[in-house]
Amino acid sequence: MYTSQTSLFTKTTKEKPKGEVSLNAQLLMRAGFVDKVMAGVYSYLPLGLRVLKKIQQIVREEMDALGGQEILMPALSPKELWETTDRWDKIDVLFKVEDKYALGSTHEEVVTPLVKKFVHSYKDLPVAVYQIQDKFRNEPRAKSGLMRGREFSMKDLYSFHKTAEDFEQFYEKSIAAYHRIFERCGLDAKLTAADGGVFSKFSHEFQVITPYGEDIIFHCAQCNTYTNKEIITQDSCDKCDGEFEQHKAIEVGNIFPLKTRFTDAFNFTYANESGENKEVYMGCYGIGPSRMMGAVVEVHADDAGMVWPTEIAPYDIHVVALGDSDSVMKKAKEVAITLSEHGKEVLLDDRSASAGAKFADSDLFGIPTRIVISEKLVAKNEVEVKQRTEKDAQNMSEADVYSQFAM
Ligand code: ATP
Ligand code: MG
Repeated sequence: MYTSQTSLFTKTTKEKPKGEVSLNAQLLMRAGFVDKVMAGVYSYLPLGLRVLKKIQQIVREEMDALGGQEILMPALSPKELWETTDRWDKIDVLFKVEDKYALGSTHEEVVTPLVKKFVHSYKDLPVAVYQIQDKFRNEPRAKSGLMRGREFSMKDLYSFHKTAEDFEQFYEKSIAAYHRIFERCGLDAKLTAADGGVFSKFSHEFQVITPYGEDIIFHCAQCNTYTNKEIITQDSCDKCDGEFEQHKAIEVGNIFPLKTRFTDAFNFTYANESGENKEVYMGCYGIGPSRMMGAVVEVHADDAGMVWPTEIAPYDIHVVALGDSDSVMKKAKEVAITLSEHGKEVLLDDRSASAGAKFADSDLFGIPTRIVISEKLVAKNEVEVKQRTEKDAQNMSEADVYSQFAM
């Protein structure tokens, strides 16, 4: 069934929301996709939630294909776990509750003892588990809309291995899975060598180049590699001596070799074939669905509004009925029903508003295809079809619309 726009409780607004400097927050709030509760904390409203869920579902599908098993850990965890890894006082963005609990900023402290309970011998490894959950970080600069939340959606996967080699193979496969996720979401994310933190020499970030990014990455065109500024040690590429080009970028994913940093802290070992205790190698793999949603708006927008990539658009087709005459409404509903029966997600603008207001909202929403139905078109037995990414519309017969859009 299609969604009727009259039934949506949210409204659009032309005014820029006060105190929002980022393009993604401005457009998403004006369109009624999200609402700001406080700096870095947003509610997801019907249209915005559809986008977030689609991104999360793409992430889920690719993590399942990688062999990950989905779980859901609690957001709240006891101080003792963070003391075991010596991170209670080291993570400056950690939200602490009553000096006894932490709101999860990441979940190594919960997942490592969890997996330890079930893994005893070499036969139990490897294991990869993941969750899609809100993370909490008391970010000092929460000015980038969805791109820097203090509560935000993260997918975090953790993998556990018998050997460093087994870990490395999985790590390579995870890079391919991440590239598929970003491609499906319409993001061109560059694999970027970055700091490994206290755990290891390197990690890999996935960076989307945009002038609104908070990171700086260096591209070597000669060997086509990207390196985060934070680990650059010389003026030219250390691999081929090529010249660097500098870009602003936003980090949308980050994967880390953790080696035995956390498994050691929790005394998590396994018995090998000869019954000897061996260290467990670990990796963690983060990706931010809500940051991705913000980044997509930043890179896919024009003066009129958002331009959603097809797989994550809130709807496939926006049917816009102009005028509220019975014949137009009847035809618009018929088209909306037929398209939705053919598996398309349809939003029907059945409000009584001016054509100008309806077109402005349609452009703002950024739904990939717009189909207009008016009195004149009904008389000619035609509809008008326009792609959000294109300037010109074309008239088509209803039958042609169904054969083109309703496979
Ligand atoms: P940043 O350096 O931008 O603060 P981070 O390196 O601390 O991010 P990670 O711990 O690597 O972030 O988190 C994994 C992923 O979670 C990031 O790649 C990003 O997509 C997302 N993420 C991290 N922090 C935020 C945030 N404050 N708001 C929204 N998404 C976030
Ligand atoms: Mg990171």
